[in-house]
Amino acid sequence: MDDALAILDHYIFNTVYATYPFTTPSLSPYFSDPSNVVRQSTSLFVFVYIGAWAMYLSCAGLSYWFLFDHNLKKHPKFLKNQVQLELWTCFKNFHYLVLYTVPWFVGEVRGYSKLYERIEDHPWGWWYIPISVVWFLVFTDWLIYWAHRFLHHPWVYPRVHKVHHMWKVPTPFASHAFNALDGYMQSLPYHLFAFLFPLQKYVYLILFVGVNIWTISIHDQLFISRNHIINSTAHHTIHHRDFNYNFGQYFTFWDWISGTYRDPLDELKFADAVRKTGEYQWTRARLPKEVVERGDGTKDEEDKGA
Ligand SMILES: [Zn+2]
Ligand SMILES: [Zn+2]
Repeated sequence: MDDALAILDHYIFNTVYATYPFTTPSLSPYFSDPSNVVRQSTSLFVFVYIGAWAMYLSCAGLSYWFLFDHNLKKHPKFLKNQVQLELWTCFKNFHYLVLYTVPWFVGEVRGYSKLYERIEDHPWGWWYIPISVVWFLVFTDWLIYWAHRFLHHPWVYPRVHKVHHMWKVPTPFASHAFNALDGYMQSLPYHLFAFLFPLQKYVYLILFVGVNIWTISIHDQLFISRNHIINSTAHHTIHHRDFNYNFGQYFTFWDWISGTYRDPLDELKFADAVRKTGEYQWTRARLPKEVVERGDGTKDEEDKGA
């Protein structure tokens, strides 16, 4: 963030803050000095807000147009004008989310975090880079799991997290369509990490962008991964619909040991419970052929009255 702010100051903000109304006696003390905390906060708010929209619209947009299965829009639980509603939810919440987040970025820029620049600034040098990446994923996955569990507490859920569960059949645009407090709570582990553990700052930038893209990917309905370790869109789709399963972000580890794991390949067992609804046919249609053949041939016979 410090590099980004320095570049933005050079090309944009130095000029902007040298013009009216920032030059008036009441504002000038805050905006003439690039190291003033008010100026830094204002600049970071503008930059992060625009950057968040740019990343969200471009990545979720590409995912929606090229990866998302548009047949899902005919699903019985796909809301009328759902994509517009997802975008509107973001519009109502992004500025609050950025507002809550800016203090963390200001802290980074002012040198309070443990982010470092040169590889040799850490005693383990290059060796520390892959270690820090793995530790970042493990640490943040652990905290996000429990933050997500907390968001499902009966008192918290209707006030904070319910908005994100409006989308029973999410699109990539649902990835960031949540209450601002919800998004903030689930992003806290990333910021916390940078203040607790040493991390090379460009690695952090890549990871931060990466986790946002990951968040989009688990809402894209492209069922590539069905393995038991990675928390994929198949797992997260189950979470959107059934609430109490698959709370994880990247991995299923915490769901396994906490008893909240539901295997997407076991969907047919679950589907029995809802097989009289339109949901059943949709669930069945989206499973791999071998699972359908293995799982419920007899049920089909029952359907025909055999
Ligand atoms: Zn979601
Ligand atoms: Zn949830």
